[in-house]
Amino acid sequence: MSDPYQVLLYYLYTPIEHPDEVAKRQTNLCNEHDLKGRIIIAGEGINGTVSGTKDSTEVYIKETLGLLGTSEMEFKVESNNGHAFKKLSVKVRSEIVSLHLTKEQDINPEKITGERLSPEQFLEEMGNDDVLLFDGRNKYESDLGRFKGAICPPVDNFRDFPEWIKENFSDSKNKRILTYCTGGIRCEKLSGFLMKEGFSSVAQLDGGIINYGNDALTKGKNFDGQCYVFDQRIGVEVNSTNPKVIAVCCHCEISTQRYKNCAYKPCNLQIFICEKCESENGRFCDENCQSSACSAK
Ligand SMILES: [Zn+2]
Ligand SMILES: [Zn+2]
Repeated sequence: MSDPYQVLLYYLYTPIEHPDEVAKRQTNLCNEHDLKGRIIIAGEGINGTVSGTKDSTEVYIKETLGLLGTSEMEFKVESNNGHAFKKLSVKVRSEIVSLHLTKEQDINPEKITGERLSPEQFLEEMGNDDVLLFDGRNKYESDLGRFKGAICPPVDNFRDFPEWIKENFSDSKNKRILTYCTGGIRCEKLSGFLMKEGFSSVAQLDGGIINYGNDALTKGKNFDGQCYVFDQRIGVEVNSTNPKVIAVCCHCEISTQRYKNCAYKPCNLQIFICEKCESENGRFCDENCQSSACSAK
C-alpha cells in the first residue's frame, strides 16, 4: 500500500515584510518533505498549491502557519493517489494574483472586497430572481465546468476582466452579483473591483468551488461539469448531488471531459476530445493542425 497523498490549496492576503526570506524557507521546507507544487509570495500575501503525502502536507500546514505567524489561513485539502505536480516552483512576485491595474486603481482586499458567503448561503441565494452568478475564471476553465446559469466572460486571462466588465457588464450594476472562482483568491480582488466600479451589491463564494464541493451540506449542488485545476489532474469532481457533464468532443460531440492540448505544438489549443476520435485521427483540434503536423514530419 502506498501512502495516501493530499493536495493543498490556500492563500492569504496579509502584509509580508520579507518575501525573499519567506520564499527561501518555503523552498527548504518543501524540499525537506518532498512537497511539489507552485507557491507565489508577494508583499501582499501568499498563494499556493502543493501535493505530498498526508503526513508531509500536515507538517507543511503547521510550519507555514508558524512561518507567517498566523492561524487565519484556511487550507483546502483534497486526497489524491500521488503527486499532482511534477516539480516545485516558489516565486516572489509583485502581486499574488494580478489584475494588472495601476497602483492607484489596484484593489486591496483587506480594505475593499465583496461580502463572503458560505457554500450554504451561496446555494440559497443562487435561485433568487435578481441574482447573477459571475464566473471569475478564464473561459478554458468555465468550459470544463461552471454553476448552472452563470455568466462566464470569454477571457483568457484574469487581467482581461476589468475591460470586459466595463464594456459588457455595466448595465447590471443594480443586480445582486455573486462571484466565484476555484479557491476564492481571484474573487477577493474581482469583487472589490466590481464594488469600486459602482456595483451596489456584490458577494463572493468563500473558499471557491473547491470548498463548495467539499461542503457537507451543498455537496457541490448545481455545479455542472468539473472544476479546472492547475495541476496534472486538470479537472476534479465537485458535484455529488446532481452532477452533469457539459463538455463535448470537439469532433463528434459526444459527452467527454478529456481535456487535452492539440498535438500540433504551435497550436497547443486545449480541446475536449474523446478517446475514439483521438485514436482514429490523432489529438488535433482540426484538420489544418493535423495536416500541418503531418507535413512537418
Ligand atoms: Zn469524438
Ligand atoms: Zn490545433
